[in-house]
Amino acid sequence: MTIIPIRPEHRLPGMEPMNPTWSGEDTRGRTLRDLRISVTDRCNFRCVYCMPKTAFGHDHAFLPRSELLSFEEITRIARLFAARGVKKIRLTGGEPLLRHGIENLIAMLAEIPGLDLTLTTNGSLLAKKAQALKAAGLKRVTVSLDSLDDRVFRAMNDVDFPVERVLEGIEAAAEAGLGPVKINMVVKRGTNDAGIVDLARHFRGTGHIVRFIEYMDVGSKNGWKLDEVLPSEEVVRRIAAEFPLEAIAPDYPGEVAQRWVYEDGSGEIGAISSVTQAFCATCTRVRLSTDGRLYTCLFAEAGHDLRGLLRGKATDLQLDAAIARIWHARRDNYSEIRTAETAGLQKVEMSYIGG
Ligand code: SAM
Ligand code: SF4
Ligand code: SF4
Repeated sequence: MTIIPIRPEHRLPGMEPMNPTWSGEDTRGRTLRDLRISVTDRCNFRCVYCMPKTAFGHDHAFLPRSELLSFEEITRIARLFAARGVKKIRLTGGEPLLRHGIENLIAMLAEIPGLDLTLTTNGSLLAKKAQALKAAGLKRVTVSLDSLDDRVFRAMNDVDFPVERVLEGIEAAAEAGLGPVKINMVVKRGTNDAGIVDLARHFRGTGHIVRFIEYMDVGSKNGWKLDEVLPSEEVVRRIAAEFPLEAIAPDYPGEVAQRWVYEDGSGEIGAISSVTQAFCATCTRVRLSTDGRLYTCLFAEAGHDLRGLLRGKATDLQLDAAIARIWHARRDNYSEIRTAETAGLQKVEMSYIGG
């Protein structure tokens, strides 16, 4: 285990005394590896499981521009995280392609050596932007797509957006060299689970990787109920009944998706089972909100204000010390302790910290 000493000058006034050494691990022995950055809290969709119209209606107050981290601020934080061992950055939101000039941010982040730079999008603007994103230095994209059935898809995005346009975006991304494209389907029992096998069938043999995500109790506004979660085990069973599957090892330690390949060699699928098979024990992710708060868990109730430090003229050493202190103190394991009661807590909304 590498021990990185923390020097006294790393401490900020008012901080509790830090452990003099930082092992790179949090209180549960997990190493910092992935940073997700939300670049906007706005979205042109109103997915029922994420930004239901009842809570994100016309009168919803999104963050004013001055509250958003600038590209320079984001890049500065990203560099410090990379120096602390982050290997992968994912841009997310809200809908990240709505952030004006996102290609410029990508170009700035792409200059940080040794980073895997990716983005998650609803795909609505991808056909238009795929080439520019690739040219700016983006490596890959993940596209969310909950159904191939246009009627079901329009109902789930709740803005009547046609599935065809997302499919065009996926193809444009692959053509631009942003592959292998991952496709995320959030499975909500009784809403879109009838389309699981169709989605798997459609993308078999294309090189795209479909990942089935268990519906989660993110935030406090989506009215989550446990009986609307279809366990991944059942998802895999349904697909394997038509297309035999074989489990394969994770790509890297801490990968959240369990992976399967089709026995006939026609591709791969994944399952993200955060409700029925919690993976907190290997969770190496941290999330930066649109307005510069750091969240050590997707289900956190509060974040750490890095923007205050940035705009308060903190030095890189001071920012780095804050990052190290926050990670060192991290103890989150929400998915291991989830109950019907915890689901009702006032947790941060997903569109604000990104998925
Ligand atoms: N707007 C982009 C998109 O939809 O891809 C990026 C942000 S979105 C919050 C990131 C991911 O979170 C998407 O794949 C979305 O399907 C997933 N997500 C949102 N709410 C969820 C929930 N309640 N349970 C599981 N996944 C969810
Ligand atoms: Fe928007 Fe993505 Fe949330 Fe859907 S899942 S409402 S596309 S942020
Ligand atoms: Fe990580 Fe929190 Fe999810 Fe557990 S619940 S895997 S700690 S983000």
